[in-house]
Amino acid sequence: MPSFEDARRTILGSVPTLGAERVELLTALGRVVAEDVAAPWDMPFYDNSAMDGFAVRAADCRAGGTLRVAGYVPAGGTAVPAVAPGCAVRIMTGAPVPSGCDAVVPIEETEERAGAILLRESVVVRQHVRFRGEDVRRGDKVIPAGTVLRPPEISMLASFGKMYVPVHHRARVAVLSTGDELIDPGEPPEDGKVVNSNALSLAAALREIGAEPVVLGIARDNLESHLEKMAEGLKADVLITSAGVSAGDRDLVRDCLAELGVQQLFWRVDIKPGGPFAFGLKEEKPVFSLPGNPVSTMITFEELVKPALLRMMGRRRVIKPYVKAMLRREVRKKPGKVNFLRVRIEVENGVYWATSAGDQNTGILRTMVQANGIAVLPKEKTVFTAGEEVPVHLLRDDLEMLEE
Ligand code: AMP
Ligand code: MG
Repeated sequence: MPSFEDARRTILGSVPTLGAERVELLTALGRVVAEDVAAPWDMPFYDNSAMDGFAVRAADCRAGGTLRVAGYVPAGGTAVPAVAPGCAVRIMTGAPVPSGCDAVVPIEETEERAGAILLRESVVVRQHVRFRGEDVRRGDKVIPAGTVLRPPEISMLASFGKMYVPVHHRARVAVLSTGDELIDPGEPPEDGKVVNSNALSLAAALREIGAEPVVLGIARDNLESHLEKMAEGLKADVLITSAGVSAGDRDLVRDCLAELGVQQLFWRVDIKPGGPFAFGLKEEKPVFSLPGNPVSTMITFEELVKPALLRMMGRRRVIKPYVKAMLRREVRKKPGKVNFLRVRIEVENGVYWATSAGDQNTGILRTMVQANGIAVLPKEKTVFTAGEEVPVHLLRDDLEMLEE
């Protein structure tokens, strides 16, 4: 039985990277660039003023000296002819600096009188000029393949006139629920029935990371139904099944996947919850079989499936970093398995504090709703004292963890 880390390593080492498509820049937000993008020209494209003021030759300037104002360039204007010695050109921010000028004097450092300016301060060469190529040189690799596009990357691409960008495909992920007890949301509750919430939680988690869920519905606990739905699911980039993967006599998932040519790489992981997790490949296509308990489904998705899908969609770094959180109260566990403890994190003066989010029984969904972190408690250790630091995967962004 692999450990948590081994299971994750095997999965990450097996999944393929999806191909690329060109999409409009704004549509590409959050997606992963598939090819290095190089700058097609220098940026800035021309020397320009960083201030409203006067373009000058620094060598003509001294504090207390005067210069004749010989022209005007507004933003958006074109460069005026070279400036004669002893002259200055009125210039606005962003306007091209006339040739011959090598500095800009801000308007606040001058006094204007009768077509001339008096300089209050001395002038340093290059001051307040943005020189051609000082930001980016033509040919520089500005966005390397594997970058997730955020507003700054979109800005960079837009600045270089790009309207489209090559990004990795979103993963199309088939979601299959299994079980005779399942009913669809909207059907009335009844003894013996369970609402198929996993299809929804998985579809939502997939959307959150930019994958495309393909919800297949419910396979009933017979071979025919499983095989039919699974064959359908294997047309997507990835198949995720929920439930039916333990050792019960109605747990048909693994046998049916084998029947369809899925090679199992492992079954069962040294983790709690989520132990009966299985992973296989049909040729290159990953198949994740998640235990059916809603809490186990969500936690194994978060810890084992999500990094793999991010990798498939082109990301380089896919393993969420731990934050260190101090335990408010002692926690005990049995040895032999990594425990994923649902915790409530509070941030106080920059320090993360973790409290158990409630009953840790895998049947308790409410604890999952209350949790904003998963403490990953190492396999063999059994006692974690109050004040001890534990590694935590945050489940919400920091803003949602503040008190106000
Ligand atoms: P199983 O692995 O098939 O024994 O299922 C484990 C537990 O998860 C059972 O209590 C199921 O009722 C529950 N379960 C299975 N599938 C789903 C699902 N799609 N949505 C919510 N709960 C489920
Ligand atoms: Mg079942």
